Amino acid sequence: MLPIQDALPLLTEPAKIYITTHHKPDGDAIGSILALYHYLTAKGHTVTAVAPSEVPDFLRWMPGCNTVINHEADTEKSLKALKEADLIFGLDFNDFSRTKHLTQALTDAPQFTIMIDHHLMPSPQWSYGMSNPARSSTCEMVYDFINLCGDNKIITADMATCMYVGAMTDTGSFKFPATTASVHLMIADLMTRGINHTAIHEEVYDAWSENRMRFLGYILMDKMIIFRKYNAALIALSRKDMHLFNAQNGDTEGIVNYPLSIAGIRFSTLITERADEVKLSFRSKGLFDVSNFARLYFEGGGHFNASGGRSKLPLEETISYYKKILSEIHPK
Ligand code: 5GP
Ligand code: MN
Repeated sequence: MLPIQDALPLLTEPAKIYITTHHKPDGDAIGSILALYHYLTAKGHTVTAVAPSEVPDFLRWMPGCNTVINHEADTEKSLKALKEADLIFGLDFNDFSRTKHLTQALTDAPQFTIMIDHHLMPSPQWSYGMSNPARSSTCEMVYDFINLCGDNKIITADMATCMYVGAMTDTGSFKFPATTASVHLMIADLMTRGINHTAIHEEVYDAWSENRMRFLGYILMDKMIIFRKYNAALIALSRKDMHLFNAQNGDTEGIVNYPLSIAGIRFSTLITERADEVKLSFRSKGLFDVSNFARLYFEGGGHFNASGGRSKLPLEETISYYKKILSEIHPK
């Protein structure tokens, strides 16, 4: 993977550009592809933004979101844009496999691929890239990229809004350790571009259905298990639990964080039974590396304090396996 600076000559003439992100996109995924979409469009390029799967409801209000192609639902349109593209950008992931159904097409694509991402251990499969795990979010790196291109002055309210969303969601509203001075300096700059940060926060966090709030109540009351000995918490949701509240996958977003608000709890796990696999989410506070944990035991990865993975075992067996690991490694 060559440094992204070396790719800048590819952008001197108007080009057709395909931008994508990871499967099940979050605020940083959609924020970063849309910020880059607005920026490259402003530079005269013809840009197609693609999400490998559906954009969750809480992000649908974002500027430009109606142009995003859902690869799963609109595969033909996405593949046509990919085929016609001169250049491919991948944002907020560093291994093609994170795009699920797009993986093969990206692997086979003859075009140059450019990665912008803040996860650990980028795969060498990219042509060019910018990897910075010290950055709070991929949105902060899109900001770095725009600055690297000398274009800070052309940042619009739409670009700023998109970058704000990713920085806000990936830092837990500016509280996680990754919230460095450079994040605040970027936000200060973005706030001079006419964004409404209160409205952004409300759109993202205060748009729950009554049902989702009651689902959360049920989970915290009945499904949360605390392992005091290991300073750990586990929430395991079966498909039956989901059906009970007619909950969608997006309704479990953020739930893994709640147990960390209990004094002494430093490691939280959410296990959800999906139609095709059992998915795990891990969060920690302090020095327990959940990225390594996910990689070692659950075919996953991510960040030091936030990671995910999967299990091929059925739900109950995954829970037993998880408990066995806990008792063996004693996370602190
Ligand atoms: P979440 O728990 O929100 O699904 O994921 C938390 C973090 O872990 C995200 O930054 C995501 O990129 C990463 N992550 C989640 N699932 C996987 C996975 O299966 N593989 C890898 N490598 N990373 C994952
Ligand atoms: Mn991110």
